[in-house]
Amino acid sequence: MKQAGSGRRASQDGVQPERQSVSVAEARELILGAVSPLGAETVPLTAAGGRVLAEDVEASISIPPHDNSGMDGFAVRAEDVARVPAELAVVDDLPAGRRARRKLGPGEAARIMTGGEVPEGADAVVMIEDTEQAGEGRVRVLAPATPGQHVRRAGSDVRPGLHIADAGSVLRPAHVGMLAALGRTVVGVAQRPRVAVLSTGDELVEPDRLADDGRIVTSNSYNLQAALREIGCEPVYLGIAPDDPDVIRARFRQALQCDVVISTGGVSVGDRDWIKQVLADLGGQMRLWRVRMKPGAPLAFVSVEGRPVFGLPGNPVSTLVAFEQFVRPALLRMMGHRALYRPVVPAILDEAYEKPAGRLHFVRVRLEERDGTLHACPTGDQASNVLLSMVRADGLAIVEAAATGAAAGARLPVQLLHRDDLRPEPGF
Ligand code: AMP
Ligand code: MG
Repeated sequence: MKQAGSGRRASQDGVQPERQSVSVAEARELILGAVSPLGAETVPLTAAGGRVLAEDVEASISIPPHDNSGMDGFAVRAEDVARVPAELAVVDDLPAGRRARRKLGPGEAARIMTGGEVPEGADAVVMIEDTEQAGEGRVRVLAPATPGQHVRRAGSDVRPGLHIADAGSVLRPAHVGMLAALGRTVVGVAQRPRVAVLSTGDELVEPDRLADDGRIVTSNSYNLQAALREIGCEPVYLGIAPDDPDVIRARFRQALQCDVVISTGGVSVGDRDWIKQVLADLGGQMRLWRVRMKPGAPLAFVSVEGRPVFGLPGNPVSTLVAFEQFVRPALLRMMGHRALYRPVVPAILDEAYEKPAGRLHFVRVRLEERDGTLHACPTGDQASNVLLSMVRADGLAIVEAAATGAAAGARLPVQLLHRDDLRPEPGF
């Protein structure tokens, strides 16, 4: 059925969402309830950092595998050096990695390096600084040793069967190192969704086609791909579709080969806003349209062939804020993460903010610590097309739907947008 040229508002006809104009919390609940974790896949350890474990990891071996020395020095029988000085015969040389050749008898010592295997019969190590040479093949021990001294026992770090990490943990470098130490070469991790990104709008061009012809660059195509990569998703960019339902429909068919689809633009009530109609044509179940928030209100969440499709609004800040509130947590959930949300911290609002009651506002703010208190300062024009104030923002201050604003000095929750926790100086 040809939809183009069907007249003003024709694009809205016949598409009734199950839920409309819901609160942020309701939208979040509905969307998160509609997605579930993808399956697992096996990756080599070299690709495991930052991935989400899909298995419980238990130790299969002892670490260290044998008793070994914690010092450079001499492996001894503690009873031989209870009284010092004591002279011992040096019968073996044990650098790290070499098996002991023989058992230590009374009056004997073995030269040993850190990590060297403590020979049978020995129960202590005296450090080199507490010894001196006593002629060819002999050592004089100057300080007494107690049993167990400087010996790292087999299994003292990890014993077989020890629980190391739960499925759902994010693999940090230490986890990857531990897996390697256990002799693992591969690990089971949660799959990462392939996410289609489609921008819609007659007015849009790619950045390298910017000309003085009234068109604008599709910044959303790029902010979304970056946002996806930030959480380890693979974006599949499908370019710009004009406001033509036939083209958009064809592009969505392509997009639906991915696990998740994000489109931007064309989801409001304008006469060129085709997204909802096209998704309905494709058999989509319109779960939700419009959220009582600003920016980002005209969001559509549609399930097509069981795949989540997010129709995000076109204005770049609306796109990003809607991504933050709904798409990011949904994707993290699909990727097996347990923690889905950005941290929220309280901060003092530096200047008054006014709004009508009705929608929850996300105010772009810079955060500054002054006198031990966190202050939130709005970053300028809060219109939903003004990306600059988003560039300058550290977080989004939350002004509740029912409020008619917030006074200067008010304490507001601020959702952190990034972790700029690196400092030019080490700080200690
Ligand atoms: P729409 O929801 O299609 O009416 O778009 C709302 C506003 O966002 C319009 O001013 C569009 O020009 C703008 N817009 C739509 N898509 C994009 C995009 N991909 N990048 C930047 N701005 C966009
Ligand atoms: Mg448009």
